[in-house]
Amino acid sequence: MHCVKLCYNLRVVNAQITENLNPEQYQAVTAEPGNLLVLAGAGSGKTRVLVHRIAWLLDQGYATPLSILAVTFTNKAASEMRGRIEQLVGVGNHGMWVGTFHGLAHRFLRMHWRDAGLPEMFQILDSEDQLRLIRRIMKEQAVDEDHWSPRQVQGFINSRKDEGLRATQMPENSNPFIRTMQRVYLAYEQACQRGGLVDFAELLLRNLELWQHHPEILSHYQQRFRHILVDEFQDTNGIQYTWLSTLSRQGAAHIMIVGDDDQSIYSWRGAKVENIRRFQREFSDVKTIALEQNYRSTATILKTANTLIHHNDDRLGKNLWTEGEQGEPISVYAAFNEIDEARFIVDRIQYWQQQGNPYQQIAILYRSNAQSRVIEETLINADIPYKIHGGMRFFERAEIKDALAYMRLLANPNDDAAFERVVNFPTRGIGERTLQFLRQLASEQQLSLWTAGQTIVEQQSLSARASQALNHFFALITQMQTDTDKLSLDELCDHVLQHSGLLEHYRQVKGEKGLAKVENLEELVTACRQFEESDRDDDAITPLTAFLSHAALEAGEAQADNGNDCVQLMTLHSAKGLEFALVFLSGVEEGLFPHQMSINEPGRLEEERRLCYVGITRAMQQLYISYAEQRRLHGRDAYHAPSRFIAELPSECLQEVRMRSTIVRPSSYHRQHTAYQPKKRISFETDASHQSGLKMGSQVYHQRFGEGTITDFDGQGEQARVQVRFNRIGSKWLVISYAKLQAI
Ligand code: ATP
Ligand code: MG
Repeated sequence: MHCVKLCYNLRVVNAQITENLNPEQYQAVTAEPGNLLVLAGAGSGKTRVLVHRIAWLLDQGYATPLSILAVTFTNKAASEMRGRIEQLVGVGNHGMWVGTFHGLAHRFLRMHWRDAGLPEMFQILDSEDQLRLIRRIMKEQAVDEDHWSPRQVQGFINSRKDEGLRATQMPENSNPFIRTMQRVYLAYEQACQRGGLVDFAELLLRNLELWQHHPEILSHYQQRFRHILVDEFQDTNGIQYTWLSTLSRQGAAHIMIVGDDDQSIYSWRGAKVENIRRFQREFSDVKTIALEQNYRSTATILKTANTLIHHNDDRLGKNLWTEGEQGEPISVYAAFNEIDEARFIVDRIQYWQQQGNPYQQIAILYRSNAQSRVIEETLINADIPYKIHGGMRFFERAEIKDALAYMRLLANPNDDAAFERVVNFPTRGIGERTLQFLRQLASEQQLSLWTAGQTIVEQQSLSARASQALNHFFALITQMQTDTDKLSLDELCDHVLQHSGLLEHYRQVKGEKGLAKVENLEELVTACRQFEESDRDDDAITPLTAFLSHAALEAGEAQADNGNDCVQLMTLHSAKGLEFALVFLSGVEEGLFPHQMSINEPGRLEEERRLCYVGITRAMQQLYISYAEQRRLHGRDAYHAPSRFIAELPSECLQEVRMRSTIVRPSSYHRQHTAYQPKKRISFETDASHQSGLKMGSQVYHQRFGEGTITDFDGQGEQARVQVRFNRIGSKWLVISYAKLQAI
């Protein structure tokens, strides 16, 4: 009976794994175990093939869950992958390692903390904590912040770690600049070691060193992980590549990598698209499979994306096609300013929803996090639920980090970063002078701040008041440690909020802001409860430590997920790998996208173009592109021309959407003036643009007004007019036949 059921299950599962695959996908999923490269464009089923491959390996008995390690781009992708595999194979996949590079390296370190030279309770420093710590060390080392940017130092340290270089391993350098950086790096490494702190770059480096120093551990995992699968391979950096090739014993395990060179968008974080070719060179008998059929987007969206990416020179080259329907044209909206842009987006969302579609199929994408604020406000006013990925993530909010810092101190009082954050927050009379004294002693005697503080109190080297204040803090933490010892994670969190004074502090903050912070803190208790209830893999560590690591590692995905139907907001970078029926690409302006810093460097400009390609290819059914003629960002008004990327799109795929009035002054800015009129659509390919050969976004020269950018067309024949925003004098409407504009 049992056997019959099992066989029946297997047959069904088998069919499920390989049905709905095109011949190339089928080939990739069912290739005999070996090294595989799937190089393919956006939406061609790379991730899907990877998931089906795992299911197939399990189903065919080539692998057990224990022998599989899969690397995904986000933690969320990892959990989706697990769910999907479970559904395909029909059994649990417990024991399978699926996660991000950071997440997996973290897991190795937790299992082997002692051999990795770490304390059991080591904590992860996210990049903001890292920056704070670097600032403090620069101060100690008398490195002047006015001359040395802490961010630059941070970048220096991280890129050295990504190259596998410790401060002590760096060659002697006569350059005083490098020497100072090296000095801070060394002091930073020591501080991290003292406090049991591990930054993101350290996770991988430390993991590699663990393997180097303990070949028996490495060998164990090499035996175990016979199948390694990596999604989004185009964005791996040097150390990640080394990590993979070490673990796979340069090909003893079977590696499958999937990627798309056109979607490489992390070169600023050291990602090397050349790693794809390197893989082909260094791993034996790599079978390469290309997927060219796109299943995600309408033909119009796909053509738009293909045309854009053709403007890049440095490509491995491929052509995506689809059998899908033509779909709607891409709508381009020229907003007066960022508020107008946000209102337009909201208006379209409401329309979408009125048609009976859910919010969760919508994504609003932007180049820079700062753009989200206005959009958020407009969504709130319209009562549209939304969720932000990345940017100011839940676990990065100040009040959450305060609470986490207390929790971290409970787990590990030597955590200097946490100590610094809350020793005098909420204020408890511990002054800057006391802290300076403490830092100095800590640095001289190589102690953690916690230990240095206790020494100072014991030696009575402070004024009575200062000493009392500090002592009060120590007593508070120690007492909380005792009181929370037997509590569940959410009870512990609640206890910390009540007793640290944080909740009280934020309750005193007036208005909406304070309220939101209190709500966020309460949400943290919920997050703790959900975490405890969730199915965790690493049973080896305490729930508190597991939760703190989770908070630090959940990069970009971690606004508490309440499961509601809501619109998704995120940067283009964090949209990688995802898909949505309706996508808004906002702020598509020169200087913003492409980013100002990339405009003059061909390599970086190409990367921005790939980012735009990623954005466009997220859309399944409909895509809106918008730009604002005037934008207030970082407190300043900027006047941007439409992005060159818009001019690079195929005009036959675009349509301009307009408002009733062309120019609206902010002072008389009313909704009725700006209401979007869906019926009044004007195609980019108006007669005016046809006749003149001019295009939206083209740069032109006028004898009197100088250089400018085309922002609009109107009318036909003799009357055809064009709107040009001149660099010197602003916007003007000109009759094309008289204006004698020259394209430049
Ligand atoms: P990206 O480059 O954006 O990461 P991808 O290549 O990983 O994209 P997937 O996300 O795997 O692409 O697939 C894109 C969409 O196409 C998904 O909705 C997927 O389910 C669907 N899809 C892929 N292959 C097929 C197929 N053979 N039949 C039907 N749908 C498919
Ligand atoms: Mg994918």
